[in-house]
Amino acid sequence: MADTQTLPDTAVAAAASDAPANAVRTESFVTPFVRTMPKQGHEEWMIKLHKMSVLLNRAEYETVKLGLRKAAVIHIDPQEFDTKLLQINSDNLVFTPILKSAYYVGYAHQHKTPQPGEPFYWYGALTKTREDGLLFKEAEDRHDHLAIGELLGYPACCTEYFKKSFPINYDPVWIDREGVVKGYPENNILLRYFGARMSTCINCSPACQAVREVGKRWFSVMKKLDPATADDLMQILSNPVKWDSYHGVVQVENAHLVCLTHTFPYIEKRRVILWQCQN
Ligand SMILES: [Zn+2]
Repeated sequence: MADTQTLPDTAVAAAASDAPANAVRTESFVTPFVRTMPKQGHEEWMIKLHKMSVLLNRAEYETVKLGLRKAAVIHIDPQEFDTKLLQINSDNLVFTPILKSAYYVGYAHQHKTPQPGEPFYWYGALTKTREDGLLFKEAEDRHDHLAIGELLGYPACCTEYFKKSFPINYDPVWIDREGVVKGYPENNILLRYFGARMSTCINCSPACQAVREVGKRWFSVMKKLDPATADDLMQILSNPVKWDSYHGVVQVENAHLVCLTHTFPYIEKRRVILWQCQN
């Protein structure tokens, strides 16, 4: 727990969202870490980034509560199990536990089985009905990515892409693309390690219309929850971003921040994405 206390809880939760319960175990090439640094005069973006991470977690919950999708993946620390379950019950929702995972330092691409006595969190499904919770658990048990994606409200094209790409590259950011990449702000997943993303779906393309619609629905929820932070999120995802991946470290830089984290290691040649927004 000590190491992860340096991270906001929401960063751990948001990060872990990319890892399905049956994620392939791959040893990290680089010790997991996340670093975010503001550029001089842009220090307020550290606070804003944290607020975006909190807002994403709230949107995860609200999109199920509002019936915009059948299920969300949520993570509950046993220390707050009682308050979380009371909230879930009062919202007429259901939590179905899937597995226990140890905490991570940095961004999670996989779950880690806790050792006896090691701190852990519950990974599970938040649904409106018990039936959907059981469907989610069964889909996890049989490694059915398409069924899981459907319950999470993800487009089938994006789930297919994740299923195909994750075993090859556990950080599957449009793995066939590099150089200038144009896309919609709702589809921008280049800053997701640091809490800034419009939805939790790893999408198939920066121009995928189906996932853009998902992002728009999430954004309308975010606008109601915290309008100022939602606007900051739209701005940061619309601005140019340089995503530079080499030797297991990805540096993500925009006008306000320089952020570093561990990633799938490109050994012989770096892969660089220069994000430009299209509307
Ligand atoms: Zn798609």
